[in-house]
Amino acid sequence: MTDRAFKTLDDMGDVHGKRVLVREDLNVPMNDGAVSDDTRLRATLPTITELADRGAIVLILAHFGRPKGMRDATMSLALVTRPYEAVLGRPVRFVDWDGAAEAAAMMQPGDVAIIENTRFFAGEEKNDPDLVAKIAELGDFYVNDAFSAAHRAHVSTEGLAHVLPAFAGRAMEAELDALDKALGNPEHPVAAVVGGAKVSSKLDVLKHLVTKVDHLIIGGGMANTFLAARGVNVGKSLCEHDLTGTAEEIFDAAERANCTIHLPYDVVVSKEFAANPPSLRTCNVHEVAADEMILDVGPAAVEALGDVLKNCRTLVWNGPLGAFETPPFDAATVALARTAAALTRDGSLVSVAGGGDTVAALNQAGAGDDFTFVSTAGGAFLEWMEGKDLPGVAALTR
Ligand code: ADP
Ligand code: MG
Repeated sequence: MTDRAFKTLDDMGDVHGKRVLVREDLNVPMNDGAVSDDTRLRATLPTITELADRGAIVLILAHFGRPKGMRDATMSLALVTRPYEAVLGRPVRFVDWDGAAEAAAMMQPGDVAIIENTRFFAGEEKNDPDLVAKIAELGDFYVNDAFSAAHRAHVSTEGLAHVLPAFAGRAMEAELDALDKALGNPEHPVAAVVGGAKVSSKLDVLKHLVTKVDHLIIGGGMANTFLAARGVNVGKSLCEHDLTGTAEEIFDAAERANCTIHLPYDVVVSKEFAANPPSLRTCNVHEVAADEMILDVGPAAVEALGDVLKNCRTLVWNGPLGAFETPPFDAATVALARTAAALTRDGSLVSVAGGGDTVAALNQAGAGDDFTFVSTAGGAFLEWMEGKDLPGVAALTR
């Protein structure tokens, strides 16, 4: 048994011959009929392999694309079944909804099947109780292994947890444990890095983090709005001037909560947004010219931020510090990511990161593998950073 707020595969007891409905994330990107990135398929292996080895009849539930309640052959999970079989290394059958009950009854202990796209039913995204009851008939147990879909209260992510004995799969368990170590019950001091293009997309994240962390490091385009609120002239930089009042409120909330906000004091600027532009220069934030744009945090600030991390025990990171897709505006993100990776390797820092562009930036820095945990969950990760209860997780912990 575990001492967690949710049950895991350790709590399931004997599953031999039992039908287990497992919600996974099989929503992989496709290119010309082939899976172009199988990260999500590989993430399911610990749960599916363990359940099959324990003799369960494994019935995988997942969505694929956005068919909006209609059958659509281009979004059939039949397309993912052969690639999945190759990744799993054992036979996987594909089961249409019409044949699901019969297949579940015929399957043998250790067999694995993928059932058709849950979103072919209009009731899936409405969490329709009739659909919950219909799908629940196929299984004896429910396992949710898809953290990335846990911010949605759908039949396959939430509804089923109320009518079948419900457990977190191994990937879900790892994600929840990592997030708990980063923000739920972290070792202090805690630092958060928040970057990316706009303040408006991450207002709730910032408001929540100032109450939770000791150091809030703001970079990326959103730092410009905070600099402008402090009276800095940010020139032609991306800046939400209408949100400087909101930035003031966040400064005040941070002060009340004893959270130190770190803004860059030197920056990398240029007159045009292009790779290695001729007008590239590094300057103090107070020396940005009217026709220049801030595109990255400067080297002196990055070094100081590295020193902040050296004194912290926990780091949570979302958003790049600069326009990292365009060289050399990836320099600050790469340097700070490598510092965090080294501190994590040394055992002095627990580091958790998430966000589509953040994951890409960390991998570009060669630092992703050294982080304690990198979440690929996107929307669910951001909602968790906003301090929101995720329905799919709440249903497991009730
Ligand atoms: P994530 O996907 O990890 O949540 P975001 O989507 O919020 O991250 O932000 C990433 C984007 O922010 C990138 O496209 C990056 O180029 C952009 N960005 C970062 N800093 C700046 C800046 N100073 N000016 C303009 N864009 C920036
Ligand atoms: Mg993004």
